[in-house]
Amino acid sequence: MVTTKTSSTGNEHTMPVLFVGHGSPMNAIEKNQYSKGWSRVAATLPVPKAILCISAHWLTHGTSVTAMPNPRTIHDFYGFPPELYKVNYAAKGSPATAEMIQKLINKVSVQLDYAWGLDHGTWSVLQSMYPQANIPVLQLSIDPTIKTSDHFEIGNTLRILRKKGVLIIGSGNIVHNLMLIKPDATAYPWAIDFDQHIKKALEDTDTDTLINYQKIKSSNLAVPTNDHYLPLLYTIGATRGEKLRFFNESVSMGSMSMRSVIFGNTQDSL
Ligand code: ZN
Repeated sequence: MVTTKTSSTGNEHTMPVLFVGHGSPMNAIEKNQYSKGWSRVAATLPVPKAILCISAHWLTHGTSVTAMPNPRTIHDFYGFPPELYKVNYAAKGSPATAEMIQKLINKVSVQLDYAWGLDHGTWSVLQSMYPQANIPVLQLSIDPTIKTSDHFEIGNTLRILRKKGVLIIGSGNIVHNLMLIKPDATAYPWAIDFDQHIKKALEDTDTDTLINYQKIKSSNLAVPTNDHYLPLLYTIGATRGEKLRFFNESVSMGSMSMRSVIFGNTQDSL
């Protein structure tokens, strides 16, 4: 367990949990408000022993966890500048942590994976948070065929990892409609509506609304496919109505909410 303080209350021994709106892969190499927000947040966290990322960009039938000692950097996007394809995020993996996670999750059977690596949902954010790539990183895949409540429950079983110094990060976007992105910055009314509903549900620890987000009318346009929303369910599963703070609260390109959340105690204010 890695912490920077010791205390008999034990709260400092529990790693915070993050949900990060990752948006465009360009955020990996641009110093903009979002990447600066990620850097700032990382500076408030205890140094993790390992990072477990649930990325919107690793969807599988069944659930897998990366178990290789040296995960590759996957450039899983098209039509971006060459500079972005040169990024190599050379963090190590952690086979021992992968085996621990495999044993921990009972809701579904978890496979150890040796083929994936780190997709841009993970490294585009970690590039700013931990540019030295000196913390082992694992990914847990998302099986989009299971119930939304199952994602929450898997997140719940991951909670114990926080006591072992593991930083859990859900990486997606609360609102994500690529078909309707536009160059100007004005957010669509339905994007704001859904984003605000989820913000309130998070503040109220309204798990029912967060799991059954389809009941919110604007979800039709805000979440046309649920890949970028589901990582949020892992993060709320891994927390218990804890103190939370939002950062990067804006909608990018009209239809991509960059809202990010930090759950739990951090060293100081953002
Ligand atoms: Zn994405």
